Amino acid sequence: MLQKNATKKMVKAAVLYAINNLIEIKNLSQEEPKNNEVKVKMLSAGICASDYHVIKGETSFPLPIVLGHEGAGIVVDIGENVTSVKKGNKCILSFVPSCGFCYSCRKGLGNVCDTNRLTGTRQFDGTFRLKDDNGNDIHQFAKLGVFAEEIVIPESACFKIEDDFPIDVACLIGCSVTTGVGGVINQENIFPGASIAIFGAGGVGLNAILGGKIINASKIIAVDILDNKLEFAHKFGATHVLNSKEIDPIQKILEITNGIGVDFGFDTFGSQITTNQMMGSIRKGGTGVIIGLAPEGQTANINMVDIVRNHKILLGSYYGPLSPHLTFERIIEFYKSGKLDIDSVIQRKYPLEKINEAYNDLATGKDGRGVIDFSL
Ligand SMILES: [Zn+2]
Ligand SMILES: [Zn+2]
Repeated sequence: MLQKNATKKMVKAAVLYAINNLIEIKNLSQEEPKNNEVKVKMLSAGICASDYHVIKGETSFPLPIVLGHEGAGIVVDIGENVTSVKKGNKCILSFVPSCGFCYSCRKGLGNVCDTNRLTGTRQFDGTFRLKDDNGNDIHQFAKLGVFAEEIVIPESACFKIEDDFPIDVACLIGCSVTTGVGGVINQENIFPGASIAIFGAGGVGLNAILGGKIINASKIIAVDILDNKLEFAHKFGATHVLNSKEIDPIQKILEITNGIGVDFGFDTFGSQITTNQMMGSIRKGGTGVIIGLAPEGQTANINMVDIVRNHKILLGSYYGPLSPHLTFERIIEFYKSGKLDIDSVIQRKYPLEKINEAYNDLATGKDGRGVIDFSL
């Protein structure tokens, strides 16, 4: 027993105990990394809508939980049998640590690893690494829970980067960039010069615009309900911006494309309204891709006749949609060659203690991405 206690240490973490409540900063006891696990000191963590869905009860997760799934840090300890990283390595963290052995992993879809889905907010062996003062086991969102000073996570979540790679950019590659840019450039039938419409100009939407620039999209039409976000989208390279509160986006997109419709639509927000707008805006034979996660239980009211008669394709795209490490690699190369302006997406930095303020800023529709900077 004594020995077991000796392997634990205290870490500061932001814990959600109940939905629609404030996140609390707590000191938690943390176990050391086990087989194929590492301990990472967090350097940067992103404020993403997926965590906000959990706070609002729109995605059900077991509580109490340390949220946060977009992050980058430095490996400070390794468990047994860890071979791909060592102490001192800086890493992007993948919010889908893939097992490598399940059906999906073997199909090359590490982004939807079955073993990861089954074990959820616990580590791969089904156990927890965090406990609070009252002895409660604390869940880690996506096995990560990056809103903590140090985290114990699977080795396969870590993607090693060069020491001088900017850490806040690395953090964003962990979720919004991979979801948005990857959601565009990794689509099987995407092509240079495609016309695209992007619904939602939040963190993921801006990255989808950047993805559109990478494929040299002929038109990048951004649709949102907030003018400040649309102005920001325009700066990011949207060729047209539409406020769907003021005009019918389907009508306008048809007008912009000479009555044809766009080749690709991307719903980066994830809702019945935006998915319907997207499907109405694509051309015959066009593809609509849902990238944003809608609140749980939400269904889209699809016009089936339109899909059949007009040969439309409706796709879901989760985290890439390839093995996350492959997408990270592609994105890093694009960034290094100056083709991806990820830096400008980052608009605000907060210390961990200001996590509630950070989510409030997300909820009220501030531009770009906010990040927790652990050096503040
Ligand atoms: Zn995210
Ligand atoms: Zn797997």
